[in-house]
Amino acid sequence: MSYFSYKNDILHAENVALDAIAQQFGSPTYVYSKAALTANFSAYADACRQHSPAPDSSLICYSVKSNSNLAVLQLLSRLGSGFDIVSGGELLRVIAAGGDPRKVIFSGVGKSREEMRLALSHDILCFNVESIPELHRLNEAAAAMGKRAAISLRVNPNVDAKTHPYISTGLKENKFGVAYEDALACYRTAAVLPHIEVAGIDCHIGSQLLDDAPLLEALDKLIDLVDQLASEGIHLHHLDIGGGIGITYDDEKPVAIGSYLGRLFARIDAWRQDKYQGAPIKVLFEPGRSIVGNAGILLTEIQYLKHSEAKNFAIVDAAMNDLMRPAMYEAWHGVQTVARRNSAEQVYDVVGPVCESGDWLARSRPLAVEAGDLLALMSAGAYGMTMSSNYNTRGRAAEVMVDGEQVHLIRQRENPADLFALESLLA
Ligand SMILES: *Cc1c(COP(=O)(O)O)cnc(C)c1O
Repeated sequence: MSYFSYKNDILHAENVALDAIAQQFGSPTYVYSKAALTANFSAYADACRQHSPAPDSSLICYSVKSNSNLAVLQLLSRLGSGFDIVSGGELLRVIAAGGDPRKVIFSGVGKSREEMRLALSHDILCFNVESIPELHRLNEAAAAMGKRAAISLRVNPNVDAKTHPYISTGLKENKFGVAYEDALACYRTAAVLPHIEVAGIDCHIGSQLLDDAPLLEALDKLIDLVDQLASEGIHLHHLDIGGGIGITYDDEKPVAIGSYLGRLFARIDAWRQDKYQGAPIKVLFEPGRSIVGNAGILLTEIQYLKHSEAKNFAIVDAAMNDLMRPAMYEAWHGVQTVARRNSAEQVYDVVGPVCESGDWLARSRPLAVEAGDLLALMSAGAYGMTMSSNYNTRGRAAEVMVDGEQVHLIRQRENPADLFALESLLA
């Protein structure tokens, strides 16, 4: 079900017309649907309850980097979510939003000492460690604070996620994780460090995966490692399969969350029965895009139409600094006119005002539009606002969350003075 649909030829977010939002909050503006966020999170939570009913036997750790607005984090936290963070800043966001740091896992290849201290001081659930030097640095940081850091090793299972090379992370040549062949040796090292507590294992093989076969293949490889570790007396408490399930941008047909989790828990259950008499190992997930991607759109206004011999351009007030994905990965976002027109369509490239040829948002789209019309760039809830920048001294867009008939401003539009407030002139 889509939470963005036409009513009387006007595109709505839930029950609010998008032209009314543009009128009240200006453009460009990110618009999120609370009901969509709730439904997407619940798809995970319901499947976990169904397939892994034992208390505390699963945890969904929403990937903060996909959309880190405080109101989004607050909503997910209230629904019971934990969080997967990749920086100290994201931890502070989770806390500011009322999230529980003891449900936080910390991923990323480059954690600084300060970030480790911050996370240790808040007793986060687990550090997903990606290298041996990081393990030693964490051991030292924990020692200095008289603590033990719970860790999981991010293992690179060397499976092909069959997705865009920039968002594929589980192959040998990626910078992420420790090589599968080296994992046992890394765990042996970790097990004897006095301020490290070996807690789990994790992987994250890529993003926008449509099929769960690579994830189930990665799961089998993790399970093999858990068994080998157990035979050496290293017993893990959790298994973290990462995020990565894709969404429909155009006509992609991603696996349903319920079916994926059903298959995943079936394998885990069979293994637990066989090897551990059903003793629970907690299962963690790190979904991002599949929770927020289709829960948000970017609302923008056409400034000019430009017709050249080779192409027609719709020049809008959003740009690559607002939505980087097309420029960065040639990503495809649907474009819908907020008010339907009956006039004939023409084929347009939708482009922004930034001084780069890479500043395009959509290419070769049939649209019936005039200058001043509003467009919605669909499926922009994930890696939209969080990847935005101030390039060209453009303030970031406003963000609103729609809840039924209500609209909540959840981030004000930045104004130019904000953008250079931290700068100083020479004496
Ligand atoms: C980005 C990321 C995720 C979330 O990926 P999605 O494709 O958005 O689900 C999860 N885990 C890690 C370690 C990540 O870097």
